[in-house]
Amino acid sequence: MNEDTFINSLRRRSPIIGDDCAVIASPGAKDLLFTTDFTIEGIHFRAKTSAAEVGHKAVARSLSDIAAMGGTPRYCFISLALSPSTNDRWLNSFYRGATRLLERHGVKLAGGDISHTSVFVCDVMVCGTIAKGQALLRSGARPGDVIYVSGPLGGWRHKRTIVPRLEIGRQLIGKATACMDISDGLSLDLHRLALASGVAAALESIPLIKGASLRQALDDGEDYELLYTARRGTHVPGIGIGTIVKGKPGTITLSGRPVPQRGYDHFQHRS
Ligand SMILES: [Mg+2]
Repeated sequence: MNEDTFINSLRRRSPIIGDDCAVIASPGAKDLLFTTDFTIEGIHFRAKTSAAEVGHKAVARSLSDIAAMGGTPRYCFISLALSPSTNDRWLNSFYRGATRLLERHGVKLAGGDISHTSVFVCDVMVCGTIAKGQALLRSGARPGDVIYVSGPLGGWRHKRTIVPRLEIGRQLIGKATACMDISDGLSLDLHRLALASGVAAALESIPLIKGASLRQALDDGEDYELLYTARRGTHVPGIGIGTIVKGKPGTITLSGRPVPQRGYDHFQHRS
């Protein structure tokens, strides 16, 4: 089993699973968006990373999922499992980093839970809103659409600070045919978008962060740029990287050569 086969088995139980956020209808004029993301010591950050950076990253990962739907984040819940080395000073800095980013986007901290375990674990849940029926999904890409990214790629070795692309996400409402954020690497995330849309993707060129290799841009993950498609001729921000084509759903080529999926899969990294 890998992450995708596992999530597919969950989707058979509940078909609303599968996008960057769950889209929940509400009685008002807006749909609600919900997302939740773990940030775990040793997996998502190293023990020596500053607490404020960890707080920023934990929140930024969930805000990026709201951006991927074109939404506006509203409320945030932060749940923590403290480790034996989590002291008061560290915790204060963590919340300083987290709340600074929340305040920048007008998001209210609304609660959470606290427990303890062997390493620091944090889960950030964000609730957002979007105009009814307007959420950007992964499933709308069609052959002939242009594939875009919101910025150059290079993966976690080259990406210092995550900037959730909320403004760009909102600009894509009514324009992008499909959208998601790049968390596990372009090769795996574009495969997921293409699979959800029942199409294939032909990449032509990939913009690289200075010093990054093509392999890192394809496979390393944690870029947190948006990956989206739009009809040719639709004016959208970002950098064109290829075209959606007919073919076996989920297959990707770069300059005509097959691109294997080597992005990050938590099921493969358990030992
Ligand atoms: Mg995502």
